[in-house]
Amino acid sequence: MQVGSFAKRSARLVVDFALPPRCAGCGLIVDEVGSFCTLCWTKIEFLGAGGCERCGIPLEATDADLCAACLAQSSPVDRMRAAVAYGEIARSLALRLKYGRKTALAATMARFMAVHLDDYPEDSVMMPVPLHRRRLWGRGFNQAVLIARALAERKGLNVECCALIRTRSTPPLKAMNMAQRRRVVSGAFAIASGKDVAGRTIILVDDVLTTGSTASACARVLKRAGAERVELISWARVVRPAHLMR
Ligand SMILES: [Zn+2]
Ligand SMILES: [Zn+2]
Repeated sequence: MQVGSFAKRSARLVVDFALPPRCAGCGLIVDEVGSFCTLCWTKIEFLGAGGCERCGIPLEATDADLCAACLAQSSPVDRMRAAVAYGEIARSLALRLKYGRKTALAATMARFMAVHLDDYPEDSVMMPVPLHRRRLWGRGFNQAVLIARALAERKGLNVECCALIRTRSTPPLKAMNMAQRRRVVSGAFAIASGKDVAGRTIILVDDVLTTGSTASACARVLKRAGAERVELISWARVVRPAHLMR
């Protein structure tokens, strides 16, 4: 046996011993890095490949390709996907990443998000949904950037963090309905001067997808600047029972 490889293996053993992988949901020790324990696993609703072709929302057993909302209204976002339904554990991961800067959680999210991504042209870029600079100063980082970096590494794509900017600080959208949200975020984004997105495929990255109004506002700006295609990938999405009705 080569001394080098033995040393490497011992080093890995030491690291493994020092840092046993933990469940991303509850912290219980698990076998694999970036995974969940059995109990957390059963509590997470992973979103499958089926569902609405455009927005990915689960559909009831039916032969329709699009959900009622997508049939009713066109969207500048060509495709939206999320890894999991927004629930207790999905929320916990999102909050711990947002306020605790736990980069390992971004890697875990990216692992489950990556399976929902297609293959893209080489010049495609991942763009985290930007924070307004005032919020960025307050928090010190944008959680969507951490996720985008982890995802881009898996997909072999570039991350472009500065092309899309938030020109206006928007209040939390939590308590607003769809129309209010759309109004609040419209005109809140812009392309930074000197940045060119013409002809590119852009994959927007966010932690939580609620109604898609933020993604639409971003996509509208990108398309206006000539982007060929805009998709959104998020860690979790709010799956409303109303969306399941046709
Ligand atoms: Zn767990
Ligand atoms: Zn849809």
